[in-house]
Amino acid sequence: MDAYSDVVDRLRSSFRSGVTKPEAFRQSQLKNVMSMLKDNEERVIEAMHKDLAKPKFEAVLSEFEMVLNEIHHASTNLSTWMKPEYVSKNMATTFDDCFVRREPLGVVLVIGPWNYPIQLLLLPMIGAIAAGNCVIIKPSEISAATESLMAEIVPKYLSQDCFAVVCGGPEETAALLKNRFDHIFFTGSQTVGRRILQAASVHLTPVTLELGGKCPCMIFGQVNIAAAARRLMWAKFFNAGQSCVAPDYLLCTAATRDTMLPELSKVLEQFYTKDPQTCPDFCHIVSQRHWTRLMELLKNSSGKVVVGGEGCLEDKYIAPTVLVDVSENDALMQEEIFGPILPILTVESLEEAIEFVNRREKPLAVYTFSNDSSVVNTVLEKTSSGGFCSNDGIVQMTLPSLPFGGVGASGFGNYHGRWSFDTFSHRKACMLRGWALERLNGLRYPPYSEDKLYWLRWTASPKTSCSLM
Ligand code: NAD
Repeated sequence: MDAYSDVVDRLRSSFRSGVTKPEAFRQSQLKNVMSMLKDNEERVIEAMHKDLAKPKFEAVLSEFEMVLNEIHHASTNLSTWMKPEYVSKNMATTFDDCFVRREPLGVVLVIGPWNYPIQLLLLPMIGAIAAGNCVIIKPSEISAATESLMAEIVPKYLSQDCFAVVCGGPEETAALLKNRFDHIFFTGSQTVGRRILQAASVHLTPVTLELGGKCPCMIFGQVNIAAAARRLMWAKFFNAGQSCVAPDYLLCTAATRDTMLPELSKVLEQFYTKDPQTCPDFCHIVSQRHWTRLMELLKNSSGKVVVGGEGCLEDKYIAPTVLVDVSENDALMQEEIFGPILPILTVESLEEAIEFVNRREKPLAVYTFSNDSSVVNTVLEKTSSGGFCSNDGIVQMTLPSLPFGGVGASGFGNYHGRWSFDTFSHRKACMLRGWALERLNGLRYPPYSEDKLYWLRWTASPKTSCSLM
């Protein structure tokens, strides 16, 4: 018995009762998530403002609308997703029903981070509800205002027999993880990801790990400088760079850097005024610990600050900052930055940039800016990453029809839309057989003979393609 076994047991017994399986139940709970957000919109925005000084505009765009869009997408497509998927058959199964049936896994755990505290908690939950599971969500304790609001409102809108919120930090999460789950969906750092995987291995629980890393952005060949600067600065400094898919560093030639720099600084002033600290459109850092970590990185960098560089601990503010003359061994290049700091590294050629990226862990996203499609295609072809976007940043994750997830050190498994539904479903291979063709079946029964084997092999040959086995 541990502190959380009661809640896990309650959800498991609800799951076993079958209550979450009918489409009507799943649809009603999805609708309830939507009502919960709509009824509490102001409070949720206020909580995220308290946690991160998140601008309302960014909260609505990247948290509310993302979640509402996902619910709409799941709800519209659910009956199709739930249908059995019929597969091709061979001669021996001509008269049988052969299909893949997607079944809920059971009780699943969703552990969220603090940077998009609503989106990254509720998006996976929507997939898990759509797939017919019971769900425990564990928000991040770092975004404390959002965490306590979730704990208050989720039970008011969703079935308490089937869904629960568990609050707390590392200690509470470690205790929760002692329980058996049917799937664990974790979004967070690589360090904690390893712990989750270890805890899951005790029960052989399948895991999805949505982790971080350093997402490179490369600018090569001719490029529309003004538009590239706007898109890049937006993707980098949205949420003050605290996005897992934010461009972490920029790779380009010295000539491109020199052309880009004045444009980058012009755009930053247009976006966030001359005084970003008081600009309501610029997010702040989530905690003093992260503020200190980021300011230390800046202090230890041997790069030259060309824009920003200032910080204010009291406000947990760090200015949108751009550095040049940053080397591969620089402090800023040793870990994911996850803040409003953009180092620019110069290389001689596109090939050198690709080589640089491929020497490092596989990132969650690779970005390439160029007017030349051969540059874009070369990077697409020669690098490996969770996702890819040319001539923009972050927006690839807003489409529910594209899978979202990492590869290698940036994680494994994926979600969004149909991909979430599949992540939280077991694909059961089903064959419903009748009694036809029993004479043909005779070929596989003992007593075995060379004749029987000959005919079985003949049916299986690619030329005949009427395999009996
Ligand atoms: P984190 O790993 O510190 O925390 C994530 C969650 O794990 C939180 O709910 C936290 O309470 C819990 N946790 C922390 N320590 C734990 C422990 N020892 N045992 C068990 N649980 C523990 O991550 P974070 O700081 O909240 O988020 C930032 C990281 O998340 C960055 O690395 C970022 O790249 C990554 N991230 C990835 C994605 C993605 O979709 N791939 C999205 C957002 C953030």
